[in-house]
Amino acid sequence: MTEKFYYHNPYTAKIVATVLDVREKDGERWVLTDQTVFYPGGGGQLPDRGLIEKQTVTDVKEKNGKIWHKLQKDASQFVPGQKVTMEIDWPYRFYQMQQHTGQHLLSAVLERAGWPTVSVHLGEAHTLIEVEGRLPETAELHNLEKQAQTMIARALAVKTHWVTADDMDRFPLRRPPAKFDNLRVVEIEHLDYSACGGTHLQNTAEIGLIKIVGCEKIRGRARIKALIGERAFEYMEQLHQTSVLLREKLNTDHLQFNERVAQLQEELHYLKRLKKFYQQYFVNFTSRELAESTNNALVVFKMEQGEQDDAAAIAKKLSQTYHKVALIQFDRRFFLTSPSAERFDTIKFIKENAEHLEIRGGGPQGYCQGVMKRNNLNQIAETVNMALKSI
Ligand SMILES: [Zn+2]
Repeated sequence: MTEKFYYHNPYTAKIVATVLDVREKDGERWVLTDQTVFYPGGGGQLPDRGLIEKQTVTDVKEKNGKIWHKLQKDASQFVPGQKVTMEIDWPYRFYQMQQHTGQHLLSAVLERAGWPTVSVHLGEAHTLIEVEGRLPETAELHNLEKQAQTMIARALAVKTHWVTADDMDRFPLRRPPAKFDNLRVVEIEHLDYSACGGTHLQNTAEIGLIKIVGCEKIRGRARIKALIGERAFEYMEQLHQTSVLLREKLNTDHLQFNERVAQLQEELHYLKRLKKFYQQYFVNFTSRELAESTNNALVVFKMEQGEQDDAAAIAKKLSQTYHKVALIQFDRRFFLTSPSAERFDTIKFIKENAEHLEIRGGGPQGYCQGVMKRNNLNQIAETVNMALKSI
């Protein structure tokens, strides 16, 4: 059995151990030591990261009570009997301990309020706790958060116990397992007992902060999304940065954001309606001007203002209201319209002239839109005119 520091002293990050065995299999090198600070993972917690004599430990596994450390392939050869210094990535471990202990505490608070935990997921970005019962309301969630924060502030001691089945009565477990011989119980003083094999903080004060950031219905239960410890602080910082940015842009403090955004939305709605009105006006005005400016059957126009949709609308109006054949350019797009196929067949025109005019386009009879490879509006117009004269 390897002596496991992570269980009896999870705050030890560095020790000197003796190599007991070295094994190579499938190009992987594994080292066994008499004692270790490396947690092999389990209970939703990932294995520790760190170094053995400056060699990176890439994985940790437990087999029959022995803890094996996987090293990088180019690791130097360790030999049995050799003394080695092993050190875990402490910030990473502390983070894991924070997540674990924070989850225990939040589950305990939820249980007391009538939402017993069914399952837990300690994810990369947040912690998910699935609970039995209805979806808590916003005010209830905030109240749960406040209760959790009170328990954090009280710096409740976190203890571990190894418990046999006969001893179980002394430990009112939150979620007792069905069958066991020897169980590791994590106690949060005056608050919670739960079975867990992970690593934990020595008291709740080190959790720092718990922030519930979401809640949704799932499988007829509720799922609480929370940020614990450093993550919660990072989240607060992000919110703060966003708030500073918006304060500047909206020219008001965060308590007025809602009101200000509602006001801006209303303004935007008004401006959109106004834009629509003037667009209609612009289309009507421009198409009339264009129609009245020439006696020719064809109206040619390169639009420098407005939007593409306006160009399409003007082309349509010229053919439908003013019975003209229209060729309107907007950027490299063109719209070619005609009141009827007898007057001017747009489909036939594109078919016969697309290649030499270097245009691409299509659409129903009387309404063609397309792209010009070259800026050759006049050339296209001449070709349309010739086609019109030949009718
Ligand atoms: Zn735990």
